[in-house]
Amino acid sequence: SSATSSNFIKTIMEEDLAAGKVTEIVTRFPPEPNGYLHIGHAKSICLNFGLADDFGGRTNLRFDDTNPVKEDVEYVESIKRDVQWLGFDWDGLFFASDYFGRMYEKARLLIDKGLAYVDDQNADRIRESRGTLTEPGIESPFRNRSAEENLALFERMKNGEFGNGEKVLRAKIDMASPNINMRDPVIYRIVHAHHHNTGDAWCIYPMYAFAHPLEDAFEGVTHSICTLEFEDQRPFYDWVIEHCETEAKPHQYEFSRLVIDKMPVTSKRKLKLLVDNGIVDGWDDPRLPTISGLRRKGYTPEAIRHFCREVGVSKSFGIVDERMLEHFIREDLKLKALRTMAVLRPLKVVITNYPEDGSEWLEAENNAENEEMGTRQIPFSREIFIERDDFMEVPPPKYFRLFPGNEVRLKNAYFIKCEEVVKNGAGEVTELRCTYDPETKSGTGFTGRKVKGTIHWVDASQAVPAEFRLFEPLVQDEAEETEETENSSFLDRINPNSLETLQGYVEPGMKEAAGGDKFQFFRHGYFNVDPNLSGPDRPVFNRIVSLKSSFEI
Ligand code: ATP
Ligand code: MG
Ligand code: MG
Repeated sequence: SSATSSNFIKTIMEEDLAAGKVTEIVTRFPPEPNGYLHIGHAKSICLNFGLADDFGGRTNLRFDDTNPVKEDVEYVESIKRDVQWLGFDWDGLFFASDYFGRMYEKARLLIDKGLAYVDDQNADRIRESRGTLTEPGIESPFRNRSAEENLALFERMKNGEFGNGEKVLRAKIDMASPNINMRDPVIYRIVHAHHHNTGDAWCIYPMYAFAHPLEDAFEGVTHSICTLEFEDQRPFYDWVIEHCETEAKPHQYEFSRLVIDKMPVTSKRKLKLLVDNGIVDGWDDPRLPTISGLRRKGYTPEAIRHFCREVGVSKSFGIVDERMLEHFIREDLKLKALRTMAVLRPLKVVITNYPEDGSEWLEAENNAENEEMGTRQIPFSREIFIERDDFMEVPPPKYFRLFPGNEVRLKNAYFIKCEEVVKNGAGEVTELRCTYDPETKSGTGFTGRKVKGTIHWVDASQAVPAEFRLFEPLVQDEAEETEETENSSFLDRINPNSLETLQGYVEPGMKEAAGGDKFQFFRHGYFNVDPNLSGPDRPVFNRIVSLKSSFEI
């Protein structure tokens, strides 16, 4: 089956191949290395790599590193790791900064052709003079410098003779264009800063809108896919391709960015604020929608790829339900994950009629929906832990779990009956004293009587202490956060209860669990062993997702 579902970009590719406009599909994924990738980038990765795969084409990973101030090698490495983890291999690995020499020559070509000029106006003045949607822009007094003068000034900019912002190079197009992007956009600026790749070789840097089409052309990219906010830039993209006389003629296509409800913070800049302010435990905090956070939470590459395929590609803005992402991890783990018992909020139960020093091994299925996963042995003895919620001293109507005088089934074991409730001085329940009926052992076919409730448990003598981390959305009331905004107000809406940490127990077999192992805990959901926090003999589990959802694909 194909890597991408049918979409308008795929249709264009089919047509371009059929018409002989291109002989091969070449795409690129072009992140700026100024942070870790997030779920929105996963959509772009799946689309770019997936489309090329569907047509037997090629995809480059290209770091769009034209802004020296915000970029870092740590981000380069994390991005490579995340792309590979998602299951994709790039054909070429490139840095936009490796093209600075070629870009400089293209800028000189534009100057030569009378299509670019050095402007001495400052940034504020240039912004004001570009006008508004209803008002045309005003031409710069420096607009009609000769090519010779411009070439000389541009060279002096490059040689470091001017300070930051003292001069810029602008494309000379049309100050009255209805598209403000075409009103002599700045294409080079002066930034005296160290660059993570080129060091101090350059103090002039190309602007994104000028650099991006050139990068695509230098690499022979055929279909340059980006998000809709670049739609207004397309005329300038085409202008650069035409006037810079590049051999390859790439085209830009836009699709709507992925926005997921309850995961509002999909912007590297905002994620960095959360990390830098210590609100989360690093870029891979499981509450973040970063790829590394989702991985640490327990998401699999398959689940993310299936999700991206299902959300599809369109030009219309829409918010995707977070439960759709959750649906795909449940689907992926349903038949694969070992199903075991974990007690998150323990309450001790003493089985008073069980032999003092007795113990036995009981058989348990590893996955009720996948017989091939076989069975395992779990210990049972006189003291066990059950879930605190599975007992109520005064039960409401229709409560079928444990309460004084009531009998329930212990999953994979026996019926027990609550005989006595032990409390501490503060009146809190600290222990239950129950009796069991040996006749009712699981698997023996006992039919003498029925009970309405089945609860899970862990043998107390052999239980492994474990920590469980349950998550809630990190940011509250995210409504206005769905469109890219430059404000940081989301920092005022951090949910103080986004992480709940519980100390409980798991079955003895779980002692061997390694970072990244995934389990289904009965009635609690799917969990992942946290690779950073788990220690020997004391696993830490992140809840990936609870068991049930009303969401339907
Ligand atoms: P951020 O604001 O998080 O830095 P960006 O768009 O500036 O996002 P880039 O590093 O430029 O980040 O992104 C690389 C590619 O990923 C771009 O082609 C961009 O369009 C795409 N992309 C980024 N965010 C999303 C998203 N939410 N949905 C789909 N594609 C996205
Ligand atoms: Mg960007
Ligand atoms: Mg960005």
